[in-house]
Amino acid sequence: MNMVKNQISPNSLSETTIMPKLDYDLVIVGGGIAGTALACALKNSGLKVALVETKSKSVVAGKKLAYNLSLISGRILDGIGVWQEILPKITTYRQISLSDGNYPRTVQFYPDDLAISGKKQTLKEGLGYVGEHQVMLAAMQEFLADFEQFTWFCPAQVLQVNYQSDFVEVELRCKDTDSLSEEERTFTIRSKLVVGADGARSPIRETAGIGTHGWKYWQSCVAMTIKTEKSHNNIAFERFWPSGPMGVLPLPGNRCQVVWTAPHAEAKGLQMLDQEEFLAKLEYRTAGLLGKVELLSDRYVFPVQLMQSDRYVQHRLALIGDAAHCCHPVGGQGLNMGIRDVGAIAEVIKTAHQQGKDIGDIKVLKHYEGWRRKENLVILGVTDFLDRIFSGTLLPIVAVRRLGLWGMGIIPMFKSLSLRVMTGLFGRYPKLTQMLSVK
Ligand SMILES: Cc1cc2nc3c(=O)[nH]c(=O)nc-3n(C[C@H](O)[C@H](O)[C@H](O)COP(=O)(O)OP(=O)(O)OC[C@H]3O[C@@H](n4cnc5c(N)ncnc54)[C@H](O)[C@@H]3O)c2cc1C
Repeated sequence: MNMVKNQISPNSLSETTIMPKLDYDLVIVGGGIAGTALACALKNSGLKVALVETKSKSVVAGKKLAYNLSLISGRILDGIGVWQEILPKITTYRQISLSDGNYPRTVQFYPDDLAISGKKQTLKEGLGYVGEHQVMLAAMQEFLADFEQFTWFCPAQVLQVNYQSDFVEVELRCKDTDSLSEEERTFTIRSKLVVGADGARSPIRETAGIGTHGWKYWQSCVAMTIKTEKSHNNIAFERFWPSGPMGVLPLPGNRCQVVWTAPHAEAKGLQMLDQEEFLAKLEYRTAGLLGKVELLSDRYVFPVQLMQSDRYVQHRLALIGDAAHCCHPVGGQGLNMGIRDVGAIAEVIKTAHQQGKDIGDIKVLKHYEGWRRKENLVILGVTDFLDRIFSGTLLPIVAVRRLGLWGMGIIPMFKSLSLRVMTGLFGRYPKLTQMLSVK
C-alpha cells in the first residue's frame, strides 16, 4: 500500500515511500485547533500519531476568527512547546471591562484582583490573550513538521470506523488525488484509539452512537475584525445588551475582534446592513471608546448553541473540543475548554503509555472523562447563566444583574472568583501547565 510520511497530498503522493502497514497508536480525526494541539502535545511521547482532516491545511488555518485565550490555555500551549512562536504575534491584555448596556457603572478587572483574602499574587502574565486562528494553527502545523512519528492524512475523508476489542480500524479516502485510482486513494489505519476532534457536528461522535444534550439559543453571533481610530489600550471588554452580549477583543495593530450576539433575525440584519449604518451602530455600541471604526473583514454569522455529549469516551474512542461540548460565546470560553481537554487527555494517554497500559482501554479513558466533563459543565452553566441574566429587560432581572455587577465591583472575593473563571485559574491543572506562579 502507498503511504507518505508526514502529509498525504496530490503533490507528495508521487514521491511515495512504500510502507507495509498503516499501524498507529492513535488517530485524531479533525485538524482544527483542538485536534492539532493534541498531535503537538504528543510529540516526543513515543506514540505514533495520525491526523485526518477533511480540508487542506491552508484552508483549515485560513479561518477568519480570533479567540480570547485564558491564562491556563497559554500555559498549556507553553507546556506543549508552541507558545513561544504564538505569543509575540498575539495580544496580551491586562484589563477586562464589563458593563451593562449604557448603564454608567463598569467593573474593571486587573491582575491584582485575583488575590483572595488579601494574599498578593505574582502574576506576570496579565489576564489573558487574544490570538487569531491563523496565527495559532500555522504555528502548530509548523511545530509538527519534524515530528517523525506523525502523519497527516489531509485532505482526507473518514469513510468508516470499526471498533474491535483490541484495535480500531479507520477507513479513509484521500481527496484531490486525481492521478490515483479509487483503490489507491483508500487507506485503512489500524490503531488503539480514535480521538474525535471533528467539531460540533462530529460525525465520529454520531456514528459511535453518542448522544448529546443541550439547546440552540434564540441568538446568533456576528463576528468581524475592525480597525480602530483610538488605541484599544489592550483592554478586553464585554457589554451586555438586552439583545445579547457584545465582546470586543484587542488584536495587534489597533485592530479588534468583535463578537456581537443578537436574536437570529437581528443578527442576519446586522450582516446585511449597509456598511455605514452598521459602523454607526457599532460606534454607538462601543460608546466612542475606540473612535471611528473600519471593517477589515466580512461580517460572519454563527448560530449559537449549548451542547454537552452524554459521554466523552467509550471503548477505543475519546471526544475533545467542540465534538464533546459547545457553549455560548459570552466570555470566549469554547476553545479554552478544548485546549484544557487537550492538556488532560495528553496527560492521561502519556501516563498510560509509560506504564505499558493500553491507551484505548475504557478504564484509562475514564480518567479523562472524569476529569474534564464536570469542569466543562461548570463553564456551560456559567455562560448560560450570564447570557440569560444579561439578555433581558424585565425590571427585576435588570435590578438583579446591576446589583450583581455592583457586587462584583466592590466585593473582593466575588471579584476574584469571577476572574478565576474567566482566566481558567480553577479546577485541576494539567501537568503541561508546569504549575507556574498561581496555586
Ligand atoms: C463567533 C465565535 C467566537 C468565538 N470566540 C471564542 C473565544 O473568544 N474564545 C474561545 O475559547 N472560543 C471561542 N469560540 C469557540 C471556538 O471557536 C470553538 O470552541 C473552537 O474553534 C473549536 O475548535 P475544535 O478544534 O474543537 O473544532 P473545529 O474548529 O470545529 O475543528 C474541527 C475540524 O474537524 C474537521 N472535520 C470535521 N469533520 C471531519 C471528518 N469527518 N473527518 C476529518 N475532519 C473533519 C473540520 O474540517 C475542522 O477542521 C468562538 C466561536 C464562535 C462561533
